[in-house]
Amino acid sequence: MTTNNDKNIYFAAKKMNRASHLRERTAELEAMQKTHDSKYIPVYNGRHIYMNQHSSFYRRSKPFDCEYMCFLGLVDDQMWYSCPLNDKQAEKLEKEVDKRFSSLRRYALKLDDELAHIALYSRGLDLWQRNRKFCPKCGTPNKLEMAGHKLLCQNNHEQFPHIEPAIIVLVTYKDKCLLGRKAEWPANAYSTLAGFVEPGETIEEAVKREVEEESNIRVNNVQYFGSQPWPFPASLMLAFTADAENEDIKLDDELEDVQWFSRPQLQEMLKEGYVTISPRYTVAHNLIVGWLEQK
Ligand SMILES: [Zn+2]
Repeated sequence: MTTNNDKNIYFAAKKMNRASHLRERTAELEAMQKTHDSKYIPVYNGRHIYMNQHSSFYRRSKPFDCEYMCFLGLVDDQMWYSCPLNDKQAEKLEKEVDKRFSSLRRYALKLDDELAHIALYSRGLDLWQRNRKFCPKCGTPNKLEMAGHKLLCQNNHEQFPHIEPAIIVLVTYKDKCLLGRKAEWPANAYSTLAGFVEPGETIEEAVKREVEEESNIRVNNVQYFGSQPWPFPASLMLAFTADAENEDIKLDDELEDVQWFSRPQLQEMLKEGYVTISPRYTVAHNLIVGWLEQK
């Protein structure tokens, strides 16, 4: 199987070792903090403070006064932590550094690969923690455990980071590919079809169902392409290619438009600005550009 790195799917880890065995070894982690260089990243509602013409996000070698520090992993010998800030702490820090917490979407392409991965990872962890203040089973308050990777309520119900698998697929028919757009997207923006995997469904079944629901196109030869973590707020994008069996598009309510594009047509439309596709940091971009570049 080819790996994400072969396809340069953005946000993949390059160097970070999550060292997950250390999460429960609190004493060992604390001892390591004394002997290792550490980096502490303030995170607020999944956002970071972007600095230095935005090629980096704010972090420092001294811990923040936050309620709980979350161990992300090691980059070489350096320990990386995310520090979830509350409203007051976030406001104070924004004043101190004279910058605002902002969305990763705006700065993704300005970060180097490793920092992009760390920003995405800490965002996903932070959003999960903030959205699970109470136990979904019994409603009592949760507290963080395992260096931020587990939540435990007062009745000892354990919860682990919640991830929602979604499929995204480039469907082709002869020399054409199928792209669609939602009404709320920027004018002329098109992308590959996508949707969430439902309970009891295989990912291949989800691909076939979503494409048929959104476009009336039946597909076969569903091939895995790669995956991309997508914590906006909690998805994991599973990317595929598939062959269409029919050509006649019918829309449902979800998409405003779905069309077939030939390579020369799409290249020309992109060049002239008649159509835009998903940003370079998305796996949809990898799928579309990968197809455009095929001979
Ligand atoms: Zn509970």
